[in-house]
Formats: sequence, C-alpha cells, structure tokens
Amino acid sequence: MDKPQRATADTIAAVATAAGRGGVGILRISGPLTRSLAEGLIGSVPDPRHATLATWVDAAGHHIDQGLALYFPAPHSFTGEEVLELQGHGGPVVLDLLLRRVLELGARAARPGEFSERAFLNGKLDLAQAEAIADLIESGSEAAARAALRSLEGEFSRHVHALVESLIALRLHIEAAIDFPEEEIDFLADGALTQRCAQLQRKMDDLIAHARQGCLLREGMTVVLAGRPNAGKSSLLNALAERDSAIVSATPGTTRDVLREYLQIDGMPLHLIDTAGLRVTTDDVEGEGVRRAQRAMQQADRILLLLDDAQGETAASTALLGQLPSSIPYTLVYNKIDLSGRTPGICAGQDAHSTDSGMALAVSAQLGAGLDALRDHLKRCMGFQNAETGAFSARRRHLDAIARARAYTAQAGQQLQQKRGELAAEELRLAQQALGEITGEFTSDDLLGRIFASFCIGK
Ligand code: GDP
Repeated sequence: MDKPQRATADTIAAVATAAGRGGVGILRISGPLTRSLAEGLIGSVPDPRHATLATWVDAAGHHIDQGLALYFPAPHSFTGEEVLELQGHGGPVVLDLLLRRVLELGARAARPGEFSERAFLNGKLDLAQAEAIADLIESGSEAAARAALRSLEGEFSRHVHALVESLIALRLHIEAAIDFPEEEIDFLADGALTQRCAQLQRKMDDLIAHARQGCLLREGMTVVLAGRPNAGKSSLLNALAERDSAIVSATPGTTRDVLREYLQIDGMPLHLIDTAGLRVTTDDVEGEGVRRAQRAMQQADRILLLLDDAQGETAASTALLGQLPSSIPYTLVYNKIDLSGRTPGICAGQDAHSTDSGMALAVSAQLGAGLDALRDHLKRCMGFQNAETGAFSARRRHLDAIARARAYTAQAGQQLQQKRGELAAEELRLAQQALGEITGEFTSDDLLGRIFASFCIGK
C-alpha cells in the first residue's frame, strides 16, 4: 500500500483481552512513549520479540502482577509503531491497576479500534483487511470466520487492486490518445477499448458475486414469517432450526410481538422473524405491534407467507397479502400438506429456479416434508452458493463501491462509443476512486472514524 505514513504523537494503551476473568489478560501499548513506559513499569526494555518474564510495579514500587513482556520495535509491529504487550493474569482488578499505572506514566486510553486504525494509517493493512479483523472476531460461523481470514490475508484486496490496475492501464491508453488529437478519433474508434471496458465490467460482476457471498456470511438473510394464527409459523421455525441444530436462541424483542431466531442453512446465517403483530388479521388492529411488524417486514430480504393448506387457505383468501410491503419479495408456503395431501416441494407449475415474488412451495412443518426445497429456495433467493466457494468477507459498503465502479465503467464504455475520450477517462477515474474506497486509498476521515469506532477496544 502506498498510504503515507502518518506520525502518531501520542501513546495509547488498552486491555486487549475480553472483559471478565481468564487465565491470561493482555495489556497493549503502542506509540513513541513505549520504551520509557517499559522502563517505568518493568525496569527495562525487553529484548525485541523475546518473551521476557517481568514484574510490573506501581508508583510506590509495589508489585502489580507478573507475567510476560513482549516488545516489538517500530516498524515491525502490528501498528507499525513501538509496541509493548504485557501478558499478566486475566482478572479485571489487576488489569485495571496496570492500565491506571500506564495512564499515569503518560499513555492515553485507546479508543475502540485505534490499534487497527494506526496499523491502517501506517500502511500495515489496508482498510478491507482491517475490517476483516473485526469480522473475524465477530464471525458467527466457521464459514464466516474462514471468509474473514481470506480477506485478512488480502485476497479481497488483491482482486480489487487487480481491477484498479486494469482501470489505470485503460485510462493511460485513452489519455495518451487524447494528447494526440489527430489520431485520437481513430484510436477511440478501435473496438478494442470498448471491449476492455466490457471485460472489466464482467470482472466487477464476478467480484460482486464473491463479495455478496461474504456479505451474506457476515450478515445473513432476514426472513419474516407471516401468516394467520395456527398456520404453523412456530412449527416451521422450530423445524428449520432443529434440523440444522445451529445456534438457536429465542430472544424476545423489546416487546413480545417480535420474536427472532438465528439459524444457519449450510453456513448461510438466517435471521427468522416471527411477527406476532401480523397474527391479528382484522383491520381494526392498531398500534405498536402492527407498526413493528411492518417495520420488520420492510427490512426483510424476504417474507414467507404461511398458508394453512388443511384449511384450504390460499393467497387470495388471506387478507395478509395486502398488508405485505410491495417492495419486499414473498414466497407462499402451503403448510400442513400431511393433512391436505399436496406433494411437498415446489408447487406444480412453478419454475424450481425462480426467485420471483409469489413463488409457491408446499411443506409439512410437522413431518419436515418439503423443508429441503424451502432451504434451497431461500439460498437461491439470496444467490448463496455453498460456504466453501472461496468467499471472502465483505460488507455492504464494499458491494456498493464495486457497483458504483461498475456503473462508471459502463458509462466509460458508452463515452468511448461516442468517441468522447476525455469523458471516458473521467468515468474511469471515478471507477478507480470508488474501488479505492474499499481498500482505503480514497476514504473520508469521517467514514474511517465510523468504521474503526465499531471495533472493540484493544483491537
Ligand atoms: P402459529 O400460530 O402459526 O405459530 O402455528 P403453530 O406452529 O403454533 O401451529 C398451530 C397448530 O398447527 C399446532 O397444533 C401445530 O401442531 C399444528 N401444525 C403446524 N404445522 C403442522 C403440519 O405441518 N401438519 C399438521 N398436521 N399440523 C401442523
């Protein structure tokens, strides 16, 4: 990365291990005062990168704790600065005493994510890698952890850099042509340039598909269960959760009306929301419950509208259909087919690969029939491939940046067809800038601040 090194004047410190009691508790210090802090705390600066047994003392010379001290001289440290790590006992009081002493000696308490931010500012990591650290720590499944590690190791960034290099090469070609006006038109008329634009767009589509997987592994899909009382929503929720026996936690929301379950389908995290507010189908139901249900549906990736097939309930016969937000796709799920006799799976006459709104499936939540088809359908709706397809962790802001880069590249292609070299070059510059936001080459301080503020303290 060619990020300019930014000198950081102050020295920061934080407990890097999780709050609570544990075998080991680690305090991390980074910045120019590190060496003098080491002298004040343990009497000397440990040999670089050697685990040194040490005792840390307070202002009166009383022992605080003993453990291992590790010193990493700049620039060969996580932050790129002078770093000292003290690994003592993992008790909140003893760690607090140590932190207080370090602050007395001139360090400042680190903000959340400040170590990673310094690593980024000193060119040790790019922004996508720094975000991957947070994603790795927060990953909720093995697949998500593996994807985060791939990003941390730079796989995502390498793809982005490759695209940026291609954009730059194309820009240079076009700009060179602009400098020789008598040849420019001929040069721009050559279809090779527009083809390169089209090729770049395809590569961006590929990257979007990969990044979307990563985003899904991180955030999961949100599905709202809607349906009349006794349609079988809870049964379906239990059936889906049980079979996968993933993390299942029924956490009541702020009110009793919204129940959330978290489960996984082949590694794809799924947030299932049962909105009790929708259970009441009469029009005179007002108030918070309905509003909450509506809000949950507005934020959903998909709604499953459960119909009681034993009662002959159909989409047309339910008043719920009209209450669903028009912008959110829904799937009709005929339940209790063990009673009605309908064949499980995708309903007759439907395209099995369709993800269109109004797609219909038949299940028996009680017997577990048709659930595999439902799972496949949900994965298809989100464009989820299997977890082992080499996804790397990504965030919505990354997807958004690649999509913008793609749109600019498409514009550049059109400008080239109109033989407008300068405008094409400008579009490509904007595409490059959009991609640069992913790795942090072009990122506002405000956005950087927000990204790192979401990290944990000590990271
Ligand atoms: P909810 O009110 O929509 O959450 O519905 P429940 O899950 O509580 O189910 C209502 C009733 O329907 C319960 O007695 C369930 O045992 C029953 N039920 C749910 N799914 C099925 C099914 O697939 N087949 C049969 N026969 N009964 C079901």
